[in-house]
Order: sequence, then structure tokens, then C-alpha cells
Amino acid sequence: MKAVRVHTPGGPDALTFEDVPEPVAKAGEAVIRIDAAGLNYIDIYVRSGLYKNELPFTAGFEAGGTVAGAGPDVTDVKVGDRVAYTGVLGAYAQFAAVPAARLVKLPDGVSTKHGAAAMLQGMTAHYLACTTYPLRKGDACVIHAAAGGVGLLLCQLAKMRGARVIATVSTEDKAKLARAAGADDVILYTRQDFVAEVKRLTDGKGVQVVYDGVGQTTFDKGLSCLAPRGMMVLFGQASGPVPPFDASILNAKGSLFLTRPSLFHHVAAREELVERARDVLGWIRDGKLKLRMETEFALKDAAEAHRALEGRKTTGKVLLIP
Ligand code: NDP
Repeated sequence: MKAVRVHTPGGPDALTFEDVPEPVAKAGEAVIRIDAAGLNYIDIYVRSGLYKNELPFTAGFEAGGTVAGAGPDVTDVKVGDRVAYTGVLGAYAQFAAVPAARLVKLPDGVSTKHGAAAMLQGMTAHYLACTTYPLRKGDACVIHAAAGGVGLLLCQLAKMRGARVIATVSTEDKAKLARAAGADDVILYTRQDFVAEVKRLTDGKGVQVVYDGVGQTTFDKGLSCLAPRGMMVLFGQASGPVPPFDASILNAKGSLFLTRPSLFHHVAAREELVERARDVLGWIRDGKLKLRMETEFALKDAAEAHRALEGRKTTGKVLLIP
């Protein structure tokens, strides 16, 4: 079968499209025939070596497809089931062997492509808005990179929970998408001072929470957007890692909270995975949560897809089709 592998971490050209043996399901695993793999920013961190991994490896943490085979002890799924998963490396391939406990069956009306688009970014938006800082009516939040994969979903979830959303994006086109996803106000953070804008929009009060997946270029200023006892949720670093941080700043800026969460700690238990996936996939089926999945690349063009994501050229979800 074909797969996209990394032998030496580096730029997009570190991704090589090659022939590898088809996986065989071990005990507790199922082999998935992959219809679509989801592209995520973590794929860039892993490909570049920012996040370390044993070499060589097949890239990709998310896919949707059909169960093609099951090893001994697998009772949750059977051959022919339509499933999706995240958190297991090896999705940039035609087939992947995945622990059955990581698989979620897709409800009727939710395609395997929807599954590939929703698992990682959808459940991330879910835990950020519902668990890390459970938004309530009356709260205001800042969502950076609001037209991105996580961003568009997080805007919709924040609105579902009754919060006011102040979004940041780099272009007018992205601003339109953020507004369509429910953002009440949109700041072009490449042209405007977003701290001054957030202060203006909140009558100087600041917001209860900043959701920051951009990192280096937004983190410090984001702290100045928070109301006293507000929470900085640093969940990514698309612009680069945040340098070491002096915790006394949290005191000086108003007894702030800081957290650096990961999806994988929020779906580690099977019950929590199933619950979050059921919510997200159910909202998609019911039309309450809209996926933007207009960008597809052939699996062999994974390097091109990485260039587009790193180059801020994409909006919503990007899928790789084997
Ligand atoms: P996105 O689709 O949001 O793409 C990243 C976006 O970041 C770009 O489109 C761009 O939007 C913005 N950005 C700002 N500065 C830069 C820069 N210098 N280089 C590149 N992009 C920049 O990606 P994802 O939805 O996959 O991920 C968003 C963030 O969420 C990432 O940091 C990712 O690591 C994190 N994440 C964290 C998870 C967790 O559990 N901790 C899980 C999932 C994702 P614009 O042009 O509008 O500025």
C-alpha cells in the first residue's frame, strides 16, 4: 500500500510517498481502509521535529474509513463498520492498524470524510469550550486564528454555549468565515492592535478567556486582553513556541489562570472519548455544527498540503485522500 512517511524530520519535503506493507491487525486492533485523513497542525510539529517521534514513521493522527479487518478480542467494531479516530500515528496511508478502543462508529448521515474532519479539531473545540473553560452565557472570549480548523468549530461551540466571541484572523476573507461561524466581532490582528480592540469592544473590562493556538506572536498580548481572574488557554503554537514565562506576570495582570492543554488528555478514557465524539458527531448530523471541508489534496501531495497550512493559505479542514 501507499503511505506518507518521515525518515528525517524537516520541511514539507521530509514527507515521502512510498510503498509499505499493509498492516495486519494484532489483538485488540482493527485495520481501517482509510477514505480520508485529516490534516492538523500537530502533523507539522511532528514532521519538523518540534515534537519528537521514533523514526521512521507514517504521519497523520486522524482518519475516517471502513473496518477492513479485526484482530482477536475486538468486540466494539466489525468488518464493514464506518468509523473515525484520532490520536494514533499513521493515518497518512491507505490502511492503518488502530486499537479498537480508539475507534468511534459514525452515525447515519455522517460520512467517513466528516469523521476525518471532525475528530481532532471537533473534540478539541469541545473540550476547550466545555471543559477547560466551560463558557457560559455572559462570558466573552477571544478566539485567535478563528477561520482555521479548530477556530471555526470553536466559534460555533462558543456561540452554542451563549458566549460573546471576539475573533482574530489575518485577512478579510477569513473575517467573513469567522462571522459566518458566529463571531460577534472580528479583529484583523495583522493590521490592528488586538489588545486595544478587545479593550474597546469590552468597555475596558477584558474577556473571561483567551483561546490561543497561535502562540509566540499572540501570547503576551493575549494576557492583556483578560479580565481579572481570566484564563489564558494556550493550546498551540502555529507561529512558534512561547518562550519560558515568568509566572509573576499572572499576578500583575490580575490573578490570571494559565493552562496548556492537550486533546489527548481529554479523550484518554474510552468513556470520555465516546461522550465527546457523540456530542460532536451528533451536532454535525443534526446540522448544529458545520464543518468547512472544501480543501482536499491527494495523499501523494501531502507536502503541498503542509505548505498550504503552514503558509496560512487554508481555512477550516484540509483532508488528504489516499
Ligand atoms: P489552523 O487551520 O488554525 O491553521 C493555523 C492558523 O494559525 C493559520 O491559518 C493562521 O490563521 C494562524 N497563524 C498565525 N500565525 C501563523 C504563523 N506564523 N504560521 C502559520 N499559521 C499562523 O490549524 P489547526 O486548526 O490544525 O490548529 C490550530 C492550533 O490549534 C494549532 O496551534 C494546533 O497545534 C492547535 N491544536 C491544539 C490541540 C490541543 O489539544 N492542544 C488540538 C488541535 C489543535 P490566520 O491567517 O488567520 O492568522
